[in-house]
Amino acid sequence: MMDVPARILHAVRTVVPPSRGKVVLHEPEFKGNEWKYVKDCLDTGWVSSVGAYVDRFEKLLEEITGAQFAVATANGTAALHMCLLLVGVQRGDEVIIPSLTFIATANAVSYTGATPHFADSEPRTLGLDAGKLADYLSEIAEVQGDVCVNRSTGAVIRAVMPMHTFGHPVDLDALVELCARWRISLVEDAAESLGSYYKNRHTGTFGRVSGLSFNGNKVVTTGGGGAIVTNDPQLGRLAKHLTTTARVAHRWSFIHDQIGYNYRLPNLNAALGCAQLEELPGFIQRKRSLAERYIEAFRDMPEAGIVAEPPGCRSNYWLNTLLLGRRDLALRDAVLEALNGAGLMSRPAWTLMHRLPMYEQCPRMNLETAEDLEDRMINLPSSAALAD
Ligand SMILES: *Cc1c(COP(=O)(O)O)cnc(C)c1O
Repeated sequence: MMDVPARILHAVRTVVPPSRGKVVLHEPEFKGNEWKYVKDCLDTGWVSSVGAYVDRFEKLLEEITGAQFAVATANGTAALHMCLLLVGVQRGDEVIIPSLTFIATANAVSYTGATPHFADSEPRTLGLDAGKLADYLSEIAEVQGDVCVNRSTGAVIRAVMPMHTFGHPVDLDALVELCARWRISLVEDAAESLGSYYKNRHTGTFGRVSGLSFNGNKVVTTGGGGAIVTNDPQLGRLAKHLTTTARVAHRWSFIHDQIGYNYRLPNLNAALGCAQLEELPGFIQRKRSLAERYIEAFRDMPEAGIVAEPPGCRSNYWLNTLLLGRRDLALRDAVLEALNGAGLMSRPAWTLMHRLPMYEQCPRMNLETAEDLEDRMINLPSSAALAD
């Protein structure tokens, strides 16, 4: 009788056999027009902040997400920072985010001078628990005029920024309703969910504005890059203006009408992105078939299972997630040891935001589910190529 880590390793091996050699968590793939488009930039000299690939990249993103406006940015963190500024987040405000997220979500809040206010997650989506947040707001907040105020700190709760964890959409219907009722702007951190849909609508199109990421380990990459998407024409125009140093259009004069940001995506990166977006449907199809195989491999194992897309959603399965049946850190670490020891790069959840030194004093609700998930979660190798 094998012990649990050995059985988990065995199950993963049925999906990723030893013949694959050492396997990383997620690697990019450049088998389409990447070389061609990047070479075109080098051949023509259009490598920097002006060039046709940025426009084309934004057009493609609009087509894929169905959002009316996409504005490419230097990275996903910059996109989120800008999203928060666009909805009016300012110094002294609070922004509700899940504690179970990547550091960029919390840092983007801090860059505005606002304070992250941590919320719990739900096991079904691994994302922000809308029901629990609704109860919590009833306890601590009140609507004053057209803003929501935290009664204990006196701060305005200006935005809620949920995150679609590993590509699994959060409960958007509930969050849209809650934000409308509480006069809070909804901003989606859709950095991990390009190609993920909630009830047939692309994630990132439910919030007033949303941020995407094209970092090297995401579903598609521009090397480094991000985008802001919105259906609000005014916010779309303002996003473009503020991310391009707020320069007023003129043939030769340099006039800037406010403090803007140099957050624009270079043409060279956008060229890579255009080629990657052409491959997106194939990437998603292969990632979904890999996920199906993982789900099947763990179907009959009571000690662990794979997180499946929530009902009504279509996930890009960016990173496959193994959830241990019980909370046992020693077991989790033994599984990580077994997998990584066998050359299968696997990793635990991010350290929860409220445990990090710069965020441990921030306001928060009871975070028992996030803390439980943190101890039970392991990400498995998820590159699209593993499906071939
Ligand atoms: C990747 C990611 C971002 C953005 O990261 P960048 O590296 O700045 O592009 C933001 N939030 C989450 C949850 C992410 O996973």
